[in-house]
Amino acid sequence: MSVKFVAYNNGVLLPQSKPKRLYKCECRIRLMKMLSDADVIVVLSCVSGALLPFARNTLGKVIASHFGSPATSHINPQNLRRLLNYQNTVKYRRNLLVAMCQQEYLPDHDGRRVRVIERDLTEPDRIVGELLQPGGYLKLIELGLEDCVEDIDAQRVFGYALFKDGRNTRLSYPLEKFHSDVAGRSFHNGRFIQRMREKASSLPNVQLEQGTVSSLLEDNGTIKGVMFKSKSGEIKKAYAPLTIVCDGCFSNLRGSLCNPQVDVPSCFVGLILENCQLPYENHGHVVLADPSPILFYRISSTEIRCLVDVPGQKVPSVSNGDLSKYLKTVVAPQIPPELQDSFIATVDKGNIRTMPNRSMPAAPLPTPGALLMGDAFNMRHPLTGGGMTVALSDIVVLRNLLMPLHDLHDSYTLCQYLESFYTLRKPVASTINTLAGALYKVFSASPDEARQEMREACFDYLSLGGVFSNGPVSLLSGLNPRPLSLVVHFFAVAVYGVGRLLLPFPSPKRIWIGARLISGASGIIFPIIKAEGVRQMFFPATVPAYYRTPPTE
Ligand SMILES: Cc1cc2nc3c(=O)[nH]c(=O)nc-3n(C[C@H](O)[C@H](O)[C@H](O)COP(=O)(O)OP(=O)(O)OC[C@H]3O[C@@H](n4cnc5c(N)ncnc54)[C@H](O)[C@@H]3O)c2cc1C
Repeated sequence: MSVKFVAYNNGVLLPQSKPKRLYKCECRIRLMKMLSDADVIVVLSCVSGALLPFARNTLGKVIASHFGSPATSHINPQNLRRLLNYQNTVKYRRNLLVAMCQQEYLPDHDGRRVRVIERDLTEPDRIVGELLQPGGYLKLIELGLEDCVEDIDAQRVFGYALFKDGRNTRLSYPLEKFHSDVAGRSFHNGRFIQRMREKASSLPNVQLEQGTVSSLLEDNGTIKGVMFKSKSGEIKKAYAPLTIVCDGCFSNLRGSLCNPQVDVPSCFVGLILENCQLPYENHGHVVLADPSPILFYRISSTEIRCLVDVPGQKVPSVSNGDLSKYLKTVVAPQIPPELQDSFIATVDKGNIRTMPNRSMPAAPLPTPGALLMGDAFNMRHPLTGGGMTVALSDIVVLRNLLMPLHDLHDSYTLCQYLESFYTLRKPVASTINTLAGALYKVFSASPDEARQEMREACFDYLSLGGVFSNGPVSLLSGLNPRPLSLVVHFFAVAVYGVGRLLLPFPSPKRIWIGARLISGASGIIFPIIKAEGVRQMFFPATVPAYYRTPPTE
């Protein structure tokens, strides 16, 4: 066995002159080259200063998990060599790479073979997944995938602009504490997906192929693999110790892996406006319209995505012209004047797409041999553009759980261990899910006076700025996924609304509306929290699965 140590960036932090992105990219290319001529490569980034404890800790954990040794306090080549010699009875897998560049290491190169079966490998053309929150971008960085938003004409997103009854307010993401590269990104979903597919298929241990999975192969309650139809029409079977099922919102494979309670509160009607300007460039635009919100955001340097929410499970008919009439007479008058001409011209051109907005709380049925992920597992209203952030955050959680494991063949033990996934994902997932569901209800128009007050109060609360906008926006962006903070802000909005009703002179009618506002707010948020799971959401540390340790091999 050949072991190669490479000390990287010795004692020096990232050169200021070089963009972090570029630097990381260079690191990765060099690492990939090294991979070819050694069995084990350990790349050390001898970072200094504040990062040192973090570096030692993280690298220590990775090494400890791969080589079965306790975490080390001092990471240097001698210690590692000693560690490896000491543990030389452990079976090493070829091409194991333990890498860490700055805070990053590359566990996707851990030698595990991955077979990806995707129904259609051509570039998707969809109206979904076009705005990635900054929290999602941070997850891309953690996964070493941030370059997937490069060279696709992706646009940076720095926050939101809210519009209501002729008034507007700008809400910026609180990005001050982050690297200048960190922001939201909006793009053509298909271009982003293709970049990720290219990246996956460039890895020697990943096999990406086109095929439609028809069923899961089960044996004695354990999932052994999948049956699929290949591109050439052949029926094939693929076996693996762990099958990750992520076939999206229309999943036909999730049936035995979860208890799906799908709700379709509304549909999005999607249009692309060309060659016009947004009132606030590099911001998502949310119009609090009647009956429900309308979104605008730039997806390329020349195109603006418009998503019009239509409550209910059906949209007016496209074929008989009802939809374009609805868009021109009901929607157009409510959108910012700068966009109206382009909006009407786009409707006249007729390239209108629709998509149901689904929400489904995570209700897993842990099954040996399989794990459900992405929209197949958990969905929320797309108003806040949180789906990809939740999916990427789940991937990071799963990646970290799988990293210490050498062998996935003991399905029952693995399944028990992976139950911790459902709790560990909760802070991010439940915050984004709850906020999406609650905001959709609050932002939609209602004949109920109390709900109108709540909507108005929400707009005004966010317009206050400072902590009143930073708090909710950092929750929405995935930058600060804290469920408790979400509940505090939600009820602060309600209390703010009641205060406005009662001051300066409360009348019996206003007191009554205030009471209904509080009860309406509770009626919105508590059912969502109940579906998310109160204990997992607020007290994850009390859930026994939270403490599951990797199975010993
Ligand atoms: C209208 C709308 C707008 C949205 N906008 C945003 C947004 O702006 N930002 C955001 O973060 N999220 C948004 N979302 C949510 C986001 O799109 C999803 O959360 C995200 O795409 C989930 O990723 P996924 O991989 O689970 O599913 P998908 O992206 O749907 O991927 C599933 C994949 O599985 C493949 N597949 C399906 N069945 C099979 C099969 N039988 N065999 C083989 N392959 C199969 C499909 O071809 C597809 O490639 C939006 C959702 C909707 C409905």
